[in-house]
Amino acid sequence: MAKIGINIATGSLQKEEIIVGIDLGTTNSLVAVIHPGTNQPVALKEHNSSSLVPSVIYFDENRNITVGEEARGKLITAPQHTIFSAKRLIGKSFNDIKNNASFFSYKIIDDDPEGLVKVQVGDKFYSPVDLSSFILKELKQRAEHILKTPVNKAVITVPAYFNDAQRQATRDAGRLAGLNVLRIVNEPTAASLAYGLGLDKTEEKTIAVYDLGGGTFDISILRISNGIFEVLSTNGDTYLGGDDMDNLIVSYWIQGSGLSKEDLKLNAAFAQSIRLKAELAKIHLSVNESFEDELNGDKLLITKLSFNELIQPLVDKTIAACGAALKDAALKKEDIDVVVMVGGSTRVPLVKESVSNFFGKPVNDTVNPDEVVALGAAIQADILAGNNKDFLLLDITPLSLGIETMGGLMDVLIPRNSKIPNSVARQYTTHKDGQGGIKISVYQGERDMVSDNRKLAEFNLTGIPGMPAGLPKVEVSFMLNADGILMVKAKELRSGVEQTIEVKSQLDLTDQALEKMLLDSITHAKDDMDTRALVEARTTGEQLLATTEKFIQKNAVYLTSEEMMQTSASMQALQLSLTMGDKDLIQTKVEALNEISRPYAERVMNLVVAAAMKGKEV
Ligand code: AMP
Repeated sequence: MAKIGINIATGSLQKEEIIVGIDLGTTNSLVAVIHPGTNQPVALKEHNSSSLVPSVIYFDENRNITVGEEARGKLITAPQHTIFSAKRLIGKSFNDIKNNASFFSYKIIDDDPEGLVKVQVGDKFYSPVDLSSFILKELKQRAEHILKTPVNKAVITVPAYFNDAQRQATRDAGRLAGLNVLRIVNEPTAASLAYGLGLDKTEEKTIAVYDLGGGTFDISILRISNGIFEVLSTNGDTYLGGDDMDNLIVSYWIQGSGLSKEDLKLNAAFAQSIRLKAELAKIHLSVNESFEDELNGDKLLITKLSFNELIQPLVDKTIAACGAALKDAALKKEDIDVVVMVGGSTRVPLVKESVSNFFGKPVNDTVNPDEVVALGAAIQADILAGNNKDFLLLDITPLSLGIETMGGLMDVLIPRNSKIPNSVARQYTTHKDGQGGIKISVYQGERDMVSDNRKLAEFNLTGIPGMPAGLPKVEVSFMLNADGILMVKAKELRSGVEQTIEVKSQLDLTDQALEKMLLDSITHAKDDMDTRALVEARTTGEQLLATTEKFIQKNAVYLTSEEMMQTSASMQALQLSLTMGDKDLIQTKVEALNEISRPYAERVMNLVVAAAMKGKEV
């Protein structure tokens, strides 16, 4: 049995180089790494400060950029120059967000409603990718300052529902910030990893990740098996979160005070102060029965009971979304093995209780819900760094897998970037009469000619009973399992003859080698297309010569001598064209030969059919 390796992961990296995990959040972002002493993930923070960096960017008059806590302070004093929630704009057009346009206090350009949005600050325009890159740059600098080492590589998390364009935009933002983004990981996957889920390859579990942050709510149902996370469904509300709870408390206080919402609008400083008090109250009520304070001499009071009543509809909405996500995944509550809590707002006891009641089991909430995604990203980064050798978190194949077909062409069965595990089957046939065996050569790579790709394995399917060319049905199946091990099976379906080999991960393909293979495929794309066309034309020509020859041998008596001469001349011309590298010439000669043979081929077929019918007559 042949055992040849495919390194499905992106390749091993030097140990010394640090790879950080980044949670690029809508409200807050943070960086985590594996602590070299304890081997445990930790969120990075400066002394006495929070690990959370508000995802807010402030541009001063001189276009200097400030990101984080200080920028957040400018939301009230300089709203036009302060950008928050840039993540909500990633990969979006103005039409996508126009219903929520009032949410953004800064200027979003609408002159091209279909194109990607831009934000205007002063006389400068910024794309969401630019804005995200400013946040990432700040995170990179902070990490470098704390770790006292350059940080060039990162794993960044995104919501499970992000589409390819949004993932690519996040990657681009990383690159702009000077980061090599090794992996984009789904936030719920990262959160699960932080709870150790998926680190045991034999584990099979269905996980619900409930993520209620400051401004967004997501529920994701994941299936984990063989170390692979699959997103079964997602649901949620991109405009629902802890901020809404704060607003509900503000309204409750305003109603009791004789003030109106108009007063809030008129007095931005007061509005901000009361909102901050409301957030304080909410946080206080997570561990106390009532909250009492005062603002400008007025009493602010709220009990946990009243707070729970206020937020009940909001919590109910999230539970309904959990039901919808289960339905989409075609699962029942009982099918969920683990519930993971993510986001600061899951600290609210009513939220925790409601989720636990809905799923009928205790929730996982021991890891800090603000940090859990970044911590999981750090675990993923560590796996990529090769420090966790037992475990490769694989999700896609980096290079295409296929077999050699006629003329040395690569026939791809599993294209690159396919999800794994994966299996594909395709049928082939023989091209010679009585051919008793067929050689299966397995290749990896992006080029059209197998000779430019990497050969992984080769085997013969033998014992095919003698049949005319084209009659045997040889089904070749590729089964790529979660460990990146490829099983290749060839089976002749008429006779049942079969042969299987295992192509196992062993050979190391470094990042550089992988990159080179992909680059080569792009550089040679045009040449490859030409070569493929030529090879295909040649194969067609050769096959036509063979079938014509056979036909003539069998049916010479039915042909006129002129037909024989014409055919012979045309075959010679085709034979000659095959030796020249001109696909158009070959095609012309193929057509010419077909043109000559078509009339007599039809005639002979009719004769044969008529003879057969006659024979059947009684
Ligand atoms: P995140 O977007 O995950 O950073 O979550 C931020 C949200 O969590 C904000 O709305 C915070 O007010 C809220 N939050 C943080 N701590 C608590 C707490 N102890 N109790 C209730 N809500 C909290």
